[in-house]
Amino acid sequence: MRANDDHPLTTQQIVQAGLCIGCGLCQSVVGEDRLALVLTPEGRERPVPVDRLSREEDEIINAICPGLKVEGARQAELAPGTPVDTIWGPAAALAVGHAGNPDVRHRCSSGGVLTALGQYLLSSGRVDFILHVKAKPGFPMRTEQTLSFDAEAVLEAAGSRYGPAAPLLDFEAALSRERPFAVIAKPCDINAIRNLSQLDERVAEYLRYTLVFVCGGASDLAKSEEVLRDFGMTEDQLRLFRYRGYGNPGLTCVETAERSEALTYRDMWAEESKWMIQPRCKICPDAIGEAADIAASDFWPGGGPTGEDEGFNGIIVRTARGRELFDAAIADGAIVIDRETTFREFDVMQPHQVRKKRAVWARYQGMAAAGLPVPETIDLRIDACARQNDAATNLREARGARLRAREGRLGEPLPRRRNPKG
Ligand SMILES: Cc1cc2nc3c(=O)[nH]c(=O)nc-3n(C[C@H](O)[C@H](O)[C@H](O)COP(=O)(O)OP(=O)(O)OC[C@H]3O[C@@H](n4cnc5c(N)ncnc54)[C@H](O)[C@@H]3O)c2cc1C
Ligand code: SF4
Ligand code: SF4
Repeated sequence: MRANDDHPLTTQQIVQAGLCIGCGLCQSVVGEDRLALVLTPEGRERPVPVDRLSREEDEIINAICPGLKVEGARQAELAPGTPVDTIWGPAAALAVGHAGNPDVRHRCSSGGVLTALGQYLLSSGRVDFILHVKAKPGFPMRTEQTLSFDAEAVLEAAGSRYGPAAPLLDFEAALSRERPFAVIAKPCDINAIRNLSQLDERVAEYLRYTLVFVCGGASDLAKSEEVLRDFGMTEDQLRLFRYRGYGNPGLTCVETAERSEALTYRDMWAEESKWMIQPRCKICPDAIGEAADIAASDFWPGGGPTGEDEGFNGIIVRTARGRELFDAAIADGAIVIDRETTFREFDVMQPHQVRKKRAVWARYQGMAAAGLPVPETIDLRIDACARQNDAATNLREARGARLRAREGRLGEPLPRRRNPKG
């Protein structure tokens, strides 16, 4: 099962190889009448063709899918002399900061930098709208794509949404508005858009800014359903399901008409084996948003909170236009910078990202040895990252991936709709 010029992979093959993250771009491009993104029994959003897709449609999907091709920063978008770290990629600036508005800082996921920048892009007239995601009205545990045209709407969509999320389902419609806009999303969503920009000139014309969070991986919806089950609640009773925010990290809050329950971040994410992270995330070559203008992260030593704080973000400014936005947002008070930081401090704050970036190349060797397709990576230095491991670690990663691939543990079942309402 390999993509080559003669035989593009079908969407089923992409999913079964464990390469789909459910971004929704394939449905947006070929149309809902041809392909539908559905919720699967595993609690993932995956494309299912309505009818057999044509070879041309499969070729387009192979060209845009972030499961098959992942490109980092383009040199032309970087300011001259921008340092490039082997692990962290390019950074025109590295800082610790937060939203200027205390209410935004409090309500958002970490320090509110992404929301504050989104709001500032609108208020400064740089863009007309922000494409991102929010809680699905009436289904607060689930996530849907949204366009925000004012500051209140951007704030309404703030927060981390850990389950499946498909921000690009309506990307074609966003482009069709022919107005300047920005995207706030996961790194893989930006990789998908970057692939599309090679086929569709409107991306370069109208998409003015891309902002991402540094991403540890998207969980299956089953993870959220487990929380509900543990509280003895059902989804139809829910009035609120907030993953975090209202503090940093804030509580996971679940409410029905009758009662409210909460979990600390540590309770929610105590055991890594129960995170239910989607397969694509385990081999993600760019979970740190190298293709975006600005990436924002949590900033806790060791990668996890030891308690609550007022909310801080690590900020990686990558491109020249990201730098212009960052400087203007500071000057106008939209964001506040507490101090500068360094690549090596990011290592300490995000040790899981460092481990993954160093492991991916060897995992691809193991997957390829087992006959699985692997993403093509461009300007992500994954081989140089692997060279920071000793040979025994790379061998272990490669053998482990080969074994898991052979046992079917890296892939996914043939995608199908969970139930008529899924
Ligand atoms: C699945 C997931 C994994 C994460 N893993 C890490 C990690 O390993 N390390 C780390 O430092 N931080 C991680 N975070 C990010 C962290 O939780 C904060 O979101 C980040 O620090 C930005 O904070 P903020 O206050 O600026 O965000 P906010 O101002 O609250 O803005 C968040 C923005 O992200 C968008 N968004 C939320 N969830 C999704 C989603 N699933 N898909 C697309 N867009 C979304 C929202 O629409 C909103 O615009 C993760 C977040 C998520 C959702
Ligand atoms: S990753 Fe996105 S583009 Fe690729 S198959 Fe999945 S939903 Fe479609
Ligand atoms: S880890 Fe990578 S593939 Fe998974 S959601 Fe995050 S950016 Fe996407």
